[in-house]
Amino acid sequence: MDSEAVKEVFTKADTVGKGTFGYAVVEAVLMRIDPELEGSEIRSLLLASGSLRGSQGEFVDYCALIDFFASPPASSWYQPGSKQASEQKALVIGKAEAGKCVPQSLADASATDVAHNLYKRGFSVRQLMDFVKKYHTHSRIRISDRTTADVVRDIIIPETRQKRCAMAELFEGGLKEPVCLVSHCWGQNFMLLVEAIMAHASGQVLANAEMCTEDDLEKTYWLCIFGVNQHVSICGTESYPCDCRAEKWLNDHPLCEMNKFGLMMKHISEHVLVMDNNLVSLSRIWVLKELHTALSLGISTELCGDVPGDMSVIHMPSVRDALATREEDKRFILADVEYSPGVEAFDAMVSNRVWAEHKKFDLIDAVAKRDTKRAKPLLAADPTLCNVQLR
Ligand SMILES: [Zn+2]
Repeated sequence: MDSEAVKEVFTKADTVGKGTFGYAVVEAVLMRIDPELEGSEIRSLLLASGSLRGSQGEFVDYCALIDFFASPPASSWYQPGSKQASEQKALVIGKAEAGKCVPQSLADASATDVAHNLYKRGFSVRQLMDFVKKYHTHSRIRISDRTTADVVRDIIIPETRQKRCAMAELFEGGLKEPVCLVSHCWGQNFMLLVEAIMAHASGQVLANAEMCTEDDLEKTYWLCIFGVNQHVSICGTESYPCDCRAEKWLNDHPLCEMNKFGLMMKHISEHVLVMDNNLVSLSRIWVLKELHTALSLGISTELCGDVPGDMSVIHMPSVRDALATREEDKRFILADVEYSPGVEAFDAMVSNRVWAEHKKFDLIDAVAKRDTKRAKPLLAADPTLCNVQLR
């Protein structure tokens, strides 16, 4: 195709000369060219082309998009309306039958794009507070009685069903570029996660919304439950029912959003790990992968949340025994850890970190239980704890 001629047509239509058109306009044009295209397919094409602009990818750089279609590899992968259109479309969007032969250059380019798009789906503490307030009681169940997995199943998936988007994309005030990534376990109580984020933002051990200053409320975070589009990832199963029937992008697909956290964390400067009484979060492979990535990238990890009262009876889990929802995830993560720094060394680093934080958590627990008898000697032994600041 003569891309310069096509660009000329677009440039004429772009009367204000911004170089972009709105996402919906481009989507409508592509649907006219190929009526078989679905919304999620167009989104994957635009992502792969690297033409999305704006904080929410709400604009499309038409020159970048035309170049994508016109470049030799792209034109052989996808030519709307051509005889082989459905086959070529399958190559680009990774339909199941063609998913394993996605060209490597597309895989590399779009992995970076997907990671960057994921990164951009952060939120502020204020938006998190709004979420908690809005769904405080939903379907007659209080949010404090829900695990994080419950919140994903009963709130996030149904609420994002119509637009088949990530929850963060629906937050009032738009997407925020996150400073801090939060690692947590979906089996934990959801409010433990919320309180850990507030504690990290405010630097207070027992934080609540009132203790957050205006600056604290503007701090930005990234959470998989809000940042990942659940409709191209996990929905439509018994655990996470949904009738959207969106195509799923799994690990072997370049647009998969569930295996890009390592790439995405290159944009992140802080990391929080939400601990719990039974150290369940330390037994989950993805939590350990994020901790491993933070260590490799030199990002400091703050431990927040809760720890067992008596650490002496606790057996620290090993990454070798970590649990994964998908076995293939565990295989590649364990291989990464084995390569560097090695399983034993990694386990020792995690264990040392938890023990070092133990005194702080002990004090948090004593203060939470108003146990002054326990809190006083802890403070006497380590006066630096008296500020009960997390950082
Ligand atoms: Zn769905």
